[in-house]
Amino acid sequence: MKASKRYRFETLAVHAGHEVDPGTGAVIAPIHLSTTFERDADGSYPHGFIYSRNHNPNRNGLEAALAALEGGAVSAAFGSGLAAVTAIMQGLQPGDHVIAPADIYHGTANVLKHLFAKWQVGTSFVDMTRIDTVAQAIRPNTRLVWIETPSNPLLQCVDIAALAELAHRAGARAIADNTFASPVLQRPLTLGCDMVMHATTKYLGGRSDVLGGAVIALHDDDAFAQVRQAQLFGGGVPSPFDCWLVMRSLPTLPYRMQAHCANARKVAAFLHEHPKVSVVHYPGLPDNPFHALASRQMSDFGGMLSFEVAGGKDAAMTVAGKVDIFTRATSLGGTESLIEHRASIEGPDSKTPQGLLRVSIGLEHADDLIDDLTQALEHVQ
Ligand SMILES: *Cc1c(COP(=O)(O)O)cnc(C)c1O
Repeated sequence: MKASKRYRFETLAVHAGHEVDPGTGAVIAPIHLSTTFERDADGSYPHGFIYSRNHNPNRNGLEAALAALEGGAVSAAFGSGLAAVTAIMQGLQPGDHVIAPADIYHGTANVLKHLFAKWQVGTSFVDMTRIDTVAQAIRPNTRLVWIETPSNPLLQCVDIAALAELAHRAGARAIADNTFASPVLQRPLTLGCDMVMHATTKYLGGRSDVLGGAVIALHDDDAFAQVRQAQLFGGGVPSPFDCWLVMRSLPTLPYRMQAHCANARKVAAFLHEHPKVSVVHYPGLPDNPFHALASRQMSDFGGMLSFEVAGGKDAAMTVAGKVDIFTRATSLGGTESLIEHRASIEGPDSKTPQGLLRVSIGLEHADDLIDDLTQALEHVQ
């Protein structure tokens, strides 16, 4: 594919990083399991590969694809979403300060609280739905503003462009975890962010069968060089097979996202009218407080939603216990719908309401999902 031409998203999803194998003509890339690559008699590496922690053909393909889909210059792939988060934080110095959302993904909070706090990287966890709260949290040593939208599990949305501008005025970088939206629905690099992070484990992998992460940067700059260094020196790289699995899923990403969104919209509308449901958190609902903002910065509202069953924890556990199609499991972005009592997985300091169930809407027929929730909710007293 001619990389110089600016193709549309669907075309990039099929072709970016997917090259016909020059050795064999194979249309689909082989999986290069070799950990090491031969040198020429003169000591050079004629194919550019030396050792698989440094570079691997499958990883190169995945990194090229992800950079193209997010509109970045470069990308680095990792063995998990949290390895990507960790690599970003490793670019910070002792004494640096991070601003992060109060409702940040709990695993990212663990990285900041348990791995980096002891290296003197402090984090203020603030309500980022309010720009003035974020402005007040800025300190002279603030280096990074972490953005996550829509958030987990309340699907709160924050203004990416306004937060990126605020970060830049303070001399900090703006980095967005774009896992929930995917680059199909939201492109933070076009809204002013310096980097995007993904758990490719979720929508990009799309089948609940591969763990992975990635960082995509707008420019191949010094900050990205730090991420690349953490990848090469730290070694948290994905396997060639992991890269190949994510690559296999990317061509269908735009079509899967359309279907996830269409199904979620129908399920959200159904739950919104249900007498045993006290509130539905989905930015696609017209009366959702984040509807206007999400309409501006997203092209659709995603496949994730949560709802609160009137009656609290017992009622929520009853619904989760009675569903037939939904699988009771954590995670998201697969073809199968998942349901999860979020407070119990987040542990004792969780602020998530006890009656809340988070669902990842899959690719089943929406009416079957609605029928299933209908019968499960009938068991609530
Ligand atoms: C899953 C997830 C992560 C972490 O990814 P892992 O692959 O599980 O390490 C980070 N952020 C968000 C929003 C996620 O959903």
